[in-house]
Order: sequence, then structure tokens, then C-alpha cells
Amino acid sequence: MKIIMLGAPGAGKGTQAKMIAAKYEIPHISTGDIFRANIKNGTELGKKAKSYMDQGLLVPDELTCDLVVDRISQDDCAKGYILDGFPRTIPQAEALDRALEARGEKMDYAIDVDVADEVIVNRMGGRRCCVNCGMTYHVEFNAPKTEDVCDSCGEKLILRDDDKPETVQKRLNVYHEQTQPLIDFYSGKGILKSVDGTMDMNDVFAAIVKITEG
Ligand code: ADP
Ligand code: ADP
Ligand code: ZN
Repeated sequence: MKIIMLGAPGAGKGTQAKMIAAKYEIPHISTGDIFRANIKNGTELGKKAKSYMDQGLLVPDELTCDLVVDRISQDDCAKGYILDGFPRTIPQAEALDRALEARGEKMDYAIDVDVADEVIVNRMGGRRCCVNCGMTYHVEFNAPKTEDVCDSCGEKLILRDDDKPETVQKRLNVYHEQTQPLIDFYSGKGILKSVDGTMDMNDVFAAIVKITEG
């Protein structure tokens, strides 16, 4: 099973991608997580990516596409994978297509998690993230057992710098300009599916499972 998660920042892509990855035992590949891990480890890629991320801008395609193509070529992706946060531009989607074509493969679904901007702005302030293991929580809708501590690994949770209200609005604008066109792109390929992302997270998950189980 090969799935792309589409949706605005904060729509719930990561939350759903983790649940689907666990259900189908396939890797969850989040470009945001990969960039944050590189920033934490002080790599060259991390240094380059950080300046864009802090401004709410997309990291350039040149720094992003090869990274994902390499990742999906690894052995653990043989049974499939779920892409979360990639592609985010038409050139990224085209690069992915070329890589899949070269291997005689194709994506099964592009699932759009649909949430209006107003709901997102309210959600983001409550998001708490674990930079150690990538788990995401919400102070109200998905609180960790102990305040600000990751249930999975015990690390302290953070409020991401780019989840501050000014940056969230900018990221939403970037989403509408550069990422939303992917909805038509995948619709044209006949693999687009939409789910209402404003439902409770378990109901969103049930809607996605219904799609993937045909
Ligand atoms: P969210 O889950 O809130 O949408 P992500 O963790 O996916 O955020 O991404 C955080 C930031 O990382 C983005 O705002 C962008 O700067 C960068 N980023 C992540 N994925 C990509 C990508 N595919 N192309 C360009 N930039 C990306
Ligand atoms: P994305 O990966 O699309 O940026 P996340 O999965 O990180 O989004 O979700 C954004 C925030 O909203 C997180 O704090 C998450 O716990 C919360 N969240 C996710 N899905 C829902 C939902 N269906 N209802 C309410 N809050 C949600
Ligand atoms: Zn953790």
C-alpha cells in the first residue's frame, strides 16, 4: 500500500499517517520530521532547511526530492509506505512520479484531509510535539498522560516555533498557493480521496480505513 497524505498544515496528516502506518505495518515518512531531526543533529541539511522552516516557507525542492526518493528506495519500503508532507509542490509530485515510473510502481491513494483554515488556526496553538520520536499531541484533543511529557519516549514536548499564530497564517497561504494544486493533480490521476478532517480523530481514521479497504 502506497499512500500520500494531503492537507493543510495542522489538518491531521501526521496523526492519521501514524495510525495507518501502524495498521498496515509500513513506514511513515514525514519530511517535516526528517528536517527537524536534521536540525536537532546540526547537519548541513538541517542548517539549510531551518531558515526556510522558521519563516513558514517551503524548503526548496532541490533539498527535498532526492531525500524522499532515496528514502522510498530503502528495503523497508518494499511493502509500501505512507508519505506525510510530501509532495508539497507540483515539481515534487512530478519528481515522485518519475521515480515511481522508473521502478514500475504507482501510488495507490492520495488522501486529502480537509479542514477549513479557521479550524486550523485554533488547533495549532494546542499542538505539542516530541522532537525525539515524532509523536504529536494536542493539549485539548489528544493530551499526553503527563503534561508536556511524551507518552512514547518520556522526552519533554515542545510548541514548535512555526506553530505560532503569525507563522501559521503564512504557512496556510503557502499551502493554498503551492500545495493545494496537488488536489487537482491527483484527482486527474484518479487516485484522490477526501475525508472530513474536522471529525474526531478516530472517525477520520475509520473513514480512511474504509477507503484503503476499498
Ligand atoms: P505540518 O505537519 O504542520 O504541515 P511539517 O512538519 O510537514 O508541518 O513541515 C514543517 C515545515 O517543514 C514546513 O513548513 C516546510 O518548511 C518544511 N517541509 C516539510 N515538508 C516539506 C516539503 N515536502 N517541501 C518543502 N518543505 C517542506
Ligand atoms: P499535520 O501533520 O497535518 O500538520 P497533526 O497530525 O500534527 O497535523 O495535527 C495537528 C494538531 O491537531 C495536533 O495537535 C493534533 O493532535 C491535533 N489533531 C489531529 N487530528 C485532529 C482531529 N481530528 N481533531 C482535533 N484535533 C486533531
Ligand atoms: Zn517521544
